[in-house]
Amino acid sequence: VEKDVKKKLYNIDVIITFSKAKDNRALQQKFEVTVDSMFKWATVPISLYIIGDDESKDLADRIIEGAAGKYNSKYTMVSLDVENLAKELHEIVKEMQPYFSYKPGAYYSDALFFLSMALHQVLPDSITNVIMLDADLKFNADIAKLYEEFYKFSDDNVMGIARENQPVYRHTFSLYRTRHHGTRVGDPPPNGLTGFNSGVLLLDLERMRSSERYNSLLTAASVKSLTTEFSFKGHLGDQDFFSLVSMAHENLFHILPCTWNRQLCEWWRDKGYQDVFDLYFKCEGHINIYHGNCNTALPVL
Ligand code: UDP
Ligand code: MN
Repeated sequence: VEKDVKKKLYNIDVIITFSKAKDNRALQQKFEVTVDSMFKWATVPISLYIIGDDESKDLADRIIEGAAGKYNSKYTMVSLDVENLAKELHEIVKEMQPYFSYKPGAYYSDALFFLSMALHQVLPDSITNVIMLDADLKFNADIAKLYEEFYKFSDDNVMGIARENQPVYRHTFSLYRTRHHGTRVGDPPPNGLTGFNSGVLLLDLERMRSSERYNSLLTAASVKSLTTEFSFKGHLGDQDFFSLVSMAHENLFHILPCTWNRQLCEWWRDKGYQDVFDLYFKCEGHINIYHGNCNTALPVL
């Protein structure tokens, strides 16, 4: 009998998008909180990949150096040719973009909002597991603990992702829901197909590469057919793709506990969903990562 031997964790590959940051002090501060708090708790060296324009990458370098220095953290910066990455990505996702975006997606750089969907195709095969993070997070735990969620994947899972903490997809799928009474589509935890938030992603790039199912879904034809089946129109980029796909193929996704992506945005609370809002928003237990989405302030820890 083959045993699942956990390899000792020597390094964690972390990708963060940080673009158009030069004249955006608020974004710079959020990014600083994200990396500062990540280093504060990290017990394993981190390889950091920053996705952004050259000016933003320079800013990121300085912020990261300062934050890591505070805690004497081990890290390496990995440089990617973002221009080239965006072009490759654009070719893969351009025909899927219109289903998940307001914008026509004329620029190569727009494709970067869909990076997580096709990262397995644009990064070298030597990179097997990646944690992809938003730049508006605050860690309250060791990222090595988050990495351990990879070990909980079942055989079909290609990525780990937390549920969306608001009734966003209850709303998006409302037409489907009225036509299919009793559906789990858009229902709250613990039994619903709630839809996802992409602020914290565990991407098993090896599984994503080898999964025939996943790659067959990552095509314009498949996306078109799913959007028709579920009367879907989105504008939230990659998380719309993962959420839509999960309605038909939930076994591709390992659901991260809400404590690893505790979204704080409450925009939907007073938009007609008062009676059900807390079914989605509730998250019990020690919060490991706070996510200040829709510009919500993060707690002082
Ligand atoms: N982002 C960026 N530059 C921008 C806007 C967004 O680099 O001008 C990146 C950043 O990593 C950010 C992510 O895109 O965390 C998603 O945006 P945001 O977190 O603001 O969306 P929300 O979580 O509020 O939906
Ligand atoms: Mn965010």
